[in-house]
Amino acid sequence: MESKNVSNRGLSGYFSKNLEDIFILFILVSVTLSHLFFHFSISLLNLYYVPIMLAGYLLGKRLAILYAFFIVLLVWGLIIANNETYLNLQGQFGFNVDLTLWGGFLILAGWAGSLSENLKDELRTSNLLRKELARDKEDLKTLNEKLVAVNRKLEEKVEKKARELEQSNEELKKLSWTDPLTQLLNRRSCEERFKGEIARFERTKESFCIILCDLDHFKKINDTYGHNTGDYVLVEVARILKSNSRKTDMVFRWGGEEFLFLLTGTELKGGIIAGEKIRTKIETTVFEHDQQTLPITLSLGISIYQKGQTMEECVKEADKNLYSAKKAGRNRLHPKPVEQK
Ligand code: GH3
Ligand code: MG
Ligand code: MG
Repeated sequence: MESKNVSNRGLSGYFSKNLEDIFILFILVSVTLSHLFFHFSISLLNLYYVPIMLAGYLLGKRLAILYAFFIVLLVWGLIIANNETYLNLQGQFGFNVDLTLWGGFLILAGWAGSLSENLKDELRTSNLLRKELARDKEDLKTLNEKLVAVNRKLEEKVEKKARELEQSNEELKKLSWTDPLTQLLNRRSCEERFKGEIARFERTKESFCIILCDLDHFKKINDTYGHNTGDYVLVEVARILKSNSRKTDMVFRWGGEEFLFLLTGTELKGGIIAGEKIRTKIETTVFEHDQQTLPITLSLGISIYQKGQTMEECVKEADKNLYSAKKAGRNRLHPKPVEQK
């Protein structure tokens, strides 16, 4: 678009701008040619027109008119003064000076000069514009390159931020599923897994058990040895529970000093064996902290999932058995009273 406008400014622009001058030039050329044709034969003296026209061309329209008046006056002066050399020249070439013609030629030359000046101006302007346009194009190219670079940097930053966000999301997710002290899965994830187990049970009819474990007299541990020691015991017990369970079993920190086992594909009998194994392991492990040996035991209540039960109902059953184990003297595992018969 832009370059088209510039080329329009060239010749066609010039013609439309100088229409008046071109018209006058045409009239003058016609008058001059007809004058020459009717009144003069071409002679050597005609060559004087060449420098005069050249002068007009170079000086431009207004100066050429002044110059023409000066020549006219000079020639008139020479004639009036009866200048010998001039008259001799006239006689020698048989040339009659026609002042009107001289003036006409000069004005014509002036016009040509002014027209050519305009033309040069136009061409210069369009050249300048073309150069400016080329410069603008170059600027635009550099700007575009800068923009592309900035855009690339921005994309990289956005990508980096997105990765960071994804990472923090992952960490947050992990935090929301795990217990920060023991690194075991928390109660919230237990609820989720339990739902999954119920769905699996509905599908495969494969039994599963839960064991609710509670540290015995833990309050006393805290009170006697301090909260830090209590924390140490919780971390150690969690580690033992985890390392003494099958890969398919899941251990959760259910609450304060309570843990919950989810034993997949396990009948009550198998669950009791697994629970007993854990109880014995805790009982026989020597817990030492700050050069103190700690008396740590665990009471457990087991429950097998019954068709149609909710998680709360199943846990309630295990809790009942745990309570009965506590009541019976702690450091023991109680199955459901029904199973006990
Ligand atoms: P029982 O044998 O009947 O279970 O007695 P207990 O003392 O273990 O039971 P109780 O519920 O009276 O006390 C539980 C204690 O566990 C009280 C609480 O301060 C402690 N506890 C709970 N969470 C934490 C913990 O994250 N760190 C520590 N150090 N102690 C905790
Ligand atoms: Mg408790
Ligand atoms: Mg307790």
